[in-house]
Amino acid sequence: MKSEIDQFRAMVRSVIAAEILPHIDQWEADGVFPAHELFPKLAQHGLLGLGFDPEDGGEGAPMEYQMVLSEELGRGNAAGVSMAINVQMHMATPSLAKFGSEELKETYLRPAIRGEHVAAIAVTEPDAGSDVAAITTRAVRDGDDWIITGAKTYITNATQADWFCMLVRTSDEGGYRGMSQIIVPAGTPGFEVVRKLDKLGNRSSDTAELRLDSVRVPVTNTIGEIGRGFQQQMGQFIIERLSACFSIAGSAEWALGRPATICNCARCSGRRSLPVSTPCSSSPSFLPTSSCSRR
Ligand SMILES: Cc1cc2nc3c(=O)[nH]c(=O)nc-3n(C[C@H](O)[C@H](O)[C@H](O)COP(=O)(O)OP(=O)(O)OC[C@H]3O[C@@H](n4cnc5c(N)ncnc54)[C@H](O)[C@@H]3O)c2cc1C
Repeated sequence: MKSEIDQFRAMVRSVIAAEILPHIDQWEADGVFPAHELFPKLAQHGLLGLGFDPEDGGEGAPMEYQMVLSEELGRGNAAGVSMAINVQMHMATPSLAKFGSEELKETYLRPAIRGEHVAAIAVTEPDAGSDVAAITTRAVRDGDDWIITGAKTYITNATQADWFCMLVRTSDEGGYRGMSQIIVPAGTPGFEVVRKLDKLGNRSSDTAELRLDSVRVPVTNTIGEIGRGFQQQMGQFIIERLSACFSIAGSAEWALGRPATICNCARCSGRRSLPVSTPCSSSPSFLPTSSCSRR
């Protein structure tokens, strides 16, 4: 009898085979996948809420279940979609789940777990990539509001996102001090998705530049403690990195299995397309049959 986690893996694999793999080549060509259509389908199986508290609509599942999902998403040509899901579950929402007020969780987290909202994480800026402490986007307090001005770039899910978990400066302390995580809803006046970037790889995941010109959001949109944004963000990066590692392991396993699959296809159609002696009997059973028709 299969263990619970093997049953979970089989379920994930069948959902990906049904909902993602048949469309992925088209989505890669289009340069975007329909997140608002796909995410509710994944949420129906509980996949967007695996690690979250049941009180927030999550599954309260152990970390290994999240990593099985990441590994399975890494298989096939689906890295763009995998990245978008990683952002939704492991980059834009963990701080909100851990430090967010009840009101913020109700407005933003629970709809994201249900797949109704697409979420994005906005840290990187034109002059601040690896060095997060170099960000300059600034929020100035005006009564009960923040007024945010600056720019972000390379933001995944940006053209489809309903809201952004944004790291900004909220004081003049400099360095890693004086930053805060603030939720900026898409469509707030002064907020603009400037352009979608045309990438070589992971094309199905939309990546864009943002501009903020005196964007006014309530101070209550701050996640956790004002001034602790850098520390909260570093915590939020941890699960994302872990998830990316498992996803890459899934990709590597899938890629290693491909020569055997192509060899199998060539034999089926009576031709030899590869000068390899890979034993066809080792063709991995986890590959969806649709991959046989691929180049
Ligand atoms: C497809 C894609 C999607 C992304 N999605 C998001 C997103 O959703 N949200 C977001 O905020 N950001 C996102 N990013 C941005 C990503 O986090 C940054 O690209 C990353 O932080 C690196 O920053 P950079 O590109 O400016 O490179 P740089 O920081 O300029 O680094 C360039 C090179 O220098 C090396 N380097 C940098 N600093 C040092 C050092 N001190 N010592 C030695 N080597 C160093 C780096 O390892 C790298 O090889 C995305 C990027 C890509 C490509």
